[in-house]
Amino acid sequence: MVLSPTTWSEPLAQPSQTEAAQNEEAQSTAAGPATGQPEIRRENGQREVFCGLTSIVWLHRRMPDAFFLVVGSRTCAHLIQSAAGVMIFAEPRFGTAILGERDLAGLADANEELDRLVADLLERRPEIRTLFLVGSCPSEVIKLDLAKAAERLTHSHRGRVRVLNYSGSGIETTFTQGEEQALMALLPLMPASDEEQLLIVGTLADGVEDRFMALFARMGLPVVRSLPPRRSTELPPVGKGTRVLLAQPFLSATARALVHRGAQLIEAPYPFGVEGSAAWMAAAATAFGIQAEAVATVLDPLVERGRRALAPHRERLEGKRLFLLPDSQMEIPLARFLSRECGMELVEVGVPYLDRQLMAAELALLPAGTPICEGQDVERQLERVRSERPDLVVCGLGLANPLEAEGIATKWSIELVFSPIHGCDQAGDLAELFARPLHRRGLLAFS
Ligand code: SF4
Repeated sequence: MVLSPTTWSEPLAQPSQTEAAQNEEAQSTAAGPATGQPEIRRENGQREVFCGLTSIVWLHRRMPDAFFLVVGSRTCAHLIQSAAGVMIFAEPRFGTAILGERDLAGLADANEELDRLVADLLERRPEIRTLFLVGSCPSEVIKLDLAKAAERLTHSHRGRVRVLNYSGSGIETTFTQGEEQALMALLPLMPASDEEQLLIVGTLADGVEDRFMALFARMGLPVVRSLPPRRSTELPPVGKGTRVLLAQPFLSATARALVHRGAQLIEAPYPFGVEGSAAWMAAAATAFGIQAEAVATVLDPLVERGRRALAPHRERLEGKRLFLLPDSQMEIPLARFLSRECGMELVEVGVPYLDRQLMAAELALLPAGTPICEGQDVERQLERVRSERPDLVVCGLGLANPLEAEGIATKWSIELVFSPIHGCDQAGDLAELFARPLHRRGLLAFS
């Protein structure tokens, strides 16, 4: 086993035979346009998405005192290096313990190698306070019991570092589910407390989070904390006084686990665009009994400024036809923003999985009859893209280049997770992310 700082790869999750056989079973569910609801169908088939290891790229920035040690193959090492790009020039806070052939000879050897590697790492990097062992999909990794390894290593490095584990395997996770897995690993360590607090759940860019904190303080919210925290050892408490406000739409299991610990979930749209962000903040304020005037004093100028920033991008986006392929789990809130605030026409909205409870506020805002496709059968979806010829397709990196070569403008969905796009202040920048590829394609067509 060797520790690789990082390198490039093909992060596709391969379909199982069963999934391939189920391709024929794409089915329609739920009500159609006549009831004023979105039209929801489900597909099972080959998926084309990044695996959960990808989330290490934003999680390591969020918690600089944590280290993410992927236990995987060279492919995994290539993936996180490529996804992390520039981080190769910095002192990395992630790496890959690559399982070599000699590890396959015996699991005992592999465990010994892992222990030795972790000891070396901790000696070289005394600032590490939390070490995540991140599982991957090669069969030799699946055979390793990383939960036991984490327990053993926590014991042998007691008082120095705590070792947790989770899976980022492409068989089990899409790329944003990696964050969910990491949060679920942290959750048992959160202390119990019934103190009244707003808990913002989901990684935000530090600057965006600071801004939200300042705005909530101006509204008069007493205590606002966030998960994941900026220091991995300073976990927020959770209990009956906790009201959870999800900043990211891909944290279903985390939300339910927090509710299980006594917290209440605030139902709101997600903070993308002016409308979603204002409704998200207002819902939090209402949950704490803040007067409507105090909320309006803070929100009204933000809304006005956000709409002004949006206007020039709306001119470029209005009337354009949009197709979102399932990838980041952010597709439904983005579709709502692009349709309602930017005037785009939704051809199809794909989503890896649909949590109807966490999406209820968003689904209610979509235009009636919006076609939503849960799951993926990539070939069928690509056929629909080709026959519909939308103006813009939001998709993963692996599909973007072929579609661009066919003359279809694309937006990489992964960029939306890496960019600070939450909040009224960011609405103009968010719209610009979608307007830019259309502008570029327009220039190419003109030249
Ligand atoms: S975890 Fe699986 S899908 Fe992800 S990079 Fe490693 S081998 Fe590929």
